[in-house]
Amino acid sequence: MPSHLHFTSMTLGMAPPATPLPLIGVMGGTFDPIHFGHLRMAQELAESLGLAEVRFIPSATPPHREQPMTSATQRAEMVALAIAGNPLFKLDTQELERQGYSYTIDTLQFLHEGLQGKARLCLLMGMDAFAGITSWHRWQELLQFAHIVVTTRPGAALPSSNLVLDAFLQTHMLSDAQQLPIQAEHGIWVQEITALDISATKIRESLAYGCTPRYLVPDKVLEFICQHDLYSGTSRY
Ligand code: ATP
Repeated sequence: MPSHLHFTSMTLGMAPPATPLPLIGVMGGTFDPIHFGHLRMAQELAESLGLAEVRFIPSATPPHREQPMTSATQRAEMVALAIAGNPLFKLDTQELERQGYSYTIDTLQFLHEGLQGKARLCLLMGMDAFAGITSWHRWQELLQFAHIVVTTRPGAALPSSNLVLDAFLQTHMLSDAQQLPIQAEHGIWVQEITALDISATKIRESLAYGCTPRYLVPDKVLEFICQHDLYSGTSRY
């Protein structure tokens, strides 16, 4: 090419190459209580996607489900105990400080504004949560603020009858996880993780039946449950 013909991507009308940015995982949940399913999911995503950190954000007043059995403060304390010592994991209590329902869109918007373009957000969720996403408040706007990273979960599949969800996935699915740090237009990535059939519901049920959730939750979390006699009749563990 003659030296005076110097075309840039801008002059050719193409999008400029995006700069890779650090990725921050956003792990919302009720965490009633936090368990190894949550922790392993966050760890595997942090490693496979190269996340700079994962923020655990307990929902104070979840809009889509029965209200938790324990207070938001107790759930946040259990998260703090569970993640202590992992330099990648951080507790973020912003939803405890807000009034009304804890909408994920508000949390993402707040985080996105605080980052001022210095990092990209990845909203992390299991397949069960993603299957219900079209009922979330302002769900179509989630991708304005974050990528969505969906993990496999035992017993959870995409509902084949939800055409809206299917179209959402097909339209925004990324072809490669390598796109996450560089692609300014947010997309959806589905990641397979180690299948751990652990749920907070089963943990609460086993405690109610007088069984221990030992080896399903970190020991410190179990100690906290016992000390505060959460989920009924647990003090003997
Ligand atoms: P509950 O049984 O009370 O509904 P849960 O175990 O599903 O609770 P949540 O706090 O509701 O836990 O989940 C927070 C997030 O973690 C959700 O996106 C959920 O899909 C995901 N998650 C929880 N447990 C697992 C697991 N074992 N494998 C993969 N993802 C999980």
